[in-house]
Amino acid sequence: MLDVHRGNFVKERFLIGWDPGNLRGLPRGGIEQSQWDAFIEVVQNVRLLDRSKRLGWLIDVSGMFSISSANTFIDSATLVDTDIRCDTRWNNWVPIKLNILMLRIKLGGIPTKERLSHRCVEVQSIMCLLCSAVVETIDHLFVGCRELLEILSRIAIWWDVHLLDRFDIDDIMRWVDSTSLRVGQRKAFDSVIILTFWCLWNFRNKFVFGPTIPRKSDHFDAIVERKFFWDFNAFTH
Ligand SMILES: [Zn+2]
Repeated sequence: MLDVHRGNFVKERFLIGWDPGNLRGLPRGGIEQSQWDAFIEVVQNVRLLDRSKRLGWLIDVSGMFSISSANTFIDSATLVDTDIRCDTRWNNWVPIKLNILMLRIKLGGIPTKERLSHRCVEVQSIMCLLCSAVVETIDHLFVGCRELLEILSRIAIWWDVHLLDRFDIDDIMRWVDSTSLRVGQRKAFDSVIILTFWCLWNFRNKFVFGPTIPRKSDHFDAIVERKFFWDFNAFTH
C-alpha cells in the first residue's frame, strides 16, 4: 500500500491524516486490513511537536523523533504477548533505556529467535546460539541458559544474597524482595539486576550480530564496572 503523496515527510503525513484514500492501494481485507487497523490504532495517539529543525513526538522521553525510537515504539506495540502480566517497576537510578528493556521483557516484547519464528520471520535456527541446546525464548535467554547462569551466581556472592535453587524470570526481576537488604541497599541491588538484564541482552546481540564472539569472562566485569561508574557519577554530580 504505497502512499499517493510520495514526497511527503513524516510530519506532513501526520497532518494529512491516515485516510486509506491517500494510498495507491487500499487494504484488501483479511490480514492486510487487520494490519492496517492495528497500525492506525498505534499511530492515532501519536502527537508530533512543531519545533524548528527538529521533529518532536511525545512517545520518546526526550521529546524528539528518531527512527530508533519509532522502531522501539512499533516493536513494543507489535511484539507483545497478551498472556504476560504487566506489573512494572521503574528504577530511576538506571538509564531510561534499561527500564524500557525491563518493560519489554515483562511484556514479551523481545525479538528472540523463537518469537521471530512464531511471527513468521525467517530465521536460520530457533536454537540459542550461546548453548545450542535449547530454543531461544525470553526465559531461556535471561535465566535459563547454562552459559549465563554463572553471572547470577557471581552477583549473589558479590551482594551476599541467597540465590534460589529454582527460579524463573519473575523471581530474578524481584530478587530484591527475597533479600534482607536494608532500604538503602535494595534500590542499588535492584539497579544491578536491571543492569544484568541489559548486559545479557547486549552480550547476546554481540554474539549474534557482532564481528567477533564476545568473551563470557568480560561479562560480569562489565556489570561491575558500569555499576561503579554510575555510583561515581551520582556521587560527583
Ligand atoms: Zn542457551
